[in-house]
Amino acid sequence: MTDSNTPPGLDFIRTMISEDVAAGKHNGKVATRFPPEPNGYLHIGHAKSICLNFGVAREYPGGTCNLRFDDTNPEKEDTEYVESIQEDIRWLGFDWEDRLHFTSDYFEKLYQYAEQLIQMGKAYVCSLSAEEVREYRGTLTEPGKESPFRNRSVEENLSLFQRMRAGEFADGTHLLRAKIDMASPNFVMRDPPLYRIRHAHHHRTGDQWCIYPMYDYAHCLSDAMEGITHSLCTLEFENNRPLYDWILDTLKISHRPEQTEFARLNLTYTVLSKRKLIALVQKGYVSGWDDPRMPTISGIRRRGVSPGAIRNFCDRIGLAKRDSRVDMALLEHCVREDLNKTAPRMMGVLRPLKVVIENYPEDQTEVMEAVNNPEDPAMGTRKVPFSREIYIEQEDFMEDPPKKFFRLAPGKEVRLRYAYFITCTKVIKDERTGEIKELRCTYDPATRGGDAPDGRKVKATLHWVSATHGVCATVRLYNSLFTTEVPDGDKEGRDFLTFINPQSLEVLSNCRVEPALADLAPGSICQFERLGYFCADAKDSKPDAPVFNRTVTLRDDWAKIQKKKE
Ligand code: ATP
Ligand code: MG
Repeated sequence: MTDSNTPPGLDFIRTMISEDVAAGKHNGKVATRFPPEPNGYLHIGHAKSICLNFGVAREYPGGTCNLRFDDTNPEKEDTEYVESIQEDIRWLGFDWEDRLHFTSDYFEKLYQYAEQLIQMGKAYVCSLSAEEVREYRGTLTEPGKESPFRNRSVEENLSLFQRMRAGEFADGTHLLRAKIDMASPNFVMRDPPLYRIRHAHHHRTGDQWCIYPMYDYAHCLSDAMEGITHSLCTLEFENNRPLYDWILDTLKISHRPEQTEFARLNLTYTVLSKRKLIALVQKGYVSGWDDPRMPTISGIRRRGVSPGAIRNFCDRIGLAKRDSRVDMALLEHCVREDLNKTAPRMMGVLRPLKVVIENYPEDQTEVMEAVNNPEDPAMGTRKVPFSREIYIEQEDFMEDPPKKFFRLAPGKEVRLRYAYFITCTKVIKDERTGEIKELRCTYDPATRGGDAPDGRKVKATLHWVSATHGVCATVRLYNSLFTTEVPDGDKEGRDFLTFINPQSLEVLSNCRVEPALADLAPGSICQFERLGYFCADAKDSKPDAPVFNRTVTLRDDWAKIQKKKE
């Protein structure tokens, strides 16, 4: 076993599975499952588990991966989640074929197994209150106390359990517990609950049941019923493994899946707990589960990230046996690497400053030829209209520039990408406020296409958009959702919401983009030259009123943030 991040193919789980297959265990078969609870949307942490479970199944001949909804908590679950989870897994590029399962499909079978445990004297109905159950559990240093109901007869237990099912008792009045060992050093083994009473409507079984199995009980048996060979889960279930085995051993289940734990994914500057993500949605800190700032699969997708970039990220982080936190910069690096190859380059101006080219004919338009992606000549070229009035980026001009500022300034010459050299001749300001309203420039007709025949050089190339042809657009800039690297709450009792970044979203509603950008299909991605990668918003973008989400900047800003803090 390796206890560190290792590249795929060599991680400790694949090493173990390869050994099992070589030894002919389970007749050499590999069957995994991904078992989400339909109580929220999937996030990037789930993607790690999906890539592992579905990935492993793909890598071994005849391997399979089931999708199983672990729907044993009726109050928190909903079909909205069942649907979004399936959509997200498919989008990530995985397929469960005909192997879609619900734990609720096994409720009758699970019930029968529970009666079997009672008959074996291995389970009993406990009538302590929730608080008493807690008291009797003991502490880390002290053993627990046995419940006074522990020695009920098989007949009494059976009858009580049947009456629990029949709905004769109120929530919380009885519990079916495994009879294991109240003195076990492992809390999980101190007579764990197997069934509880919940008079609640279930999104699939309706009002058919008022007792629901606990996760630990249902999970191992569902794995066994589905013929799972390798049950891969996150580290927090390590202490539950003895119970997983106890249930299967006690019931003498012939097919024996085996549980193996790996470290869950944690990411800097965000939270990956469904409880916290639900709070962000319900309290209105974000616009919904698919808000592009969310670490959910649907949020990341809406932000403009491709499934390939996420899969690549999951490969790179590898698998470990110890919890750690992955730098958000690594995710962004994978996104950039992917988009650099695939995204066409276009021009958009986020904060427009008007430039009038005084020696350019007033009614003239020229069509410039622009390269779509220098990384991929096959992506071809497009036509960009140029005219006497254009917009450039406000920050590309300084009236009184410091020495190292090479962009536009009075008397300075720069190149307009794919067009001409221009020189600034005049700055026009608002008389009252002193604000720069417009620049006057001249252009050199001999520099068409961006090169001077006399060989003279300029130090900057600016992006621009024709004022006559450009389309007005809204651009949403996203920054990290939290201000601290580990927004878990702190010792002073402040919770994670304290660390929400009030500047996580900046909306610019007066941007100008070249006409081709307005035609970008919702959900498509492009690079705004010099600015970053942007995605036409899948929900809000319209051809006459395009809306773009910034997927990621061109460079790693996180390093900068880090420096500032030091
Ligand atoms: P909850 O906090 O409600 O228990 P969960 O995040 O564990 O939620 P599940 O629906 O139980 O959500 O998760 C489905 C599967 O995804 C589980 O096998 C779980 O171990 C795995 N998983 C969840 N979060 C992560 C994560 N951050 N990294 C890797 N795997 C994860
Ligand atoms: Mg869970």
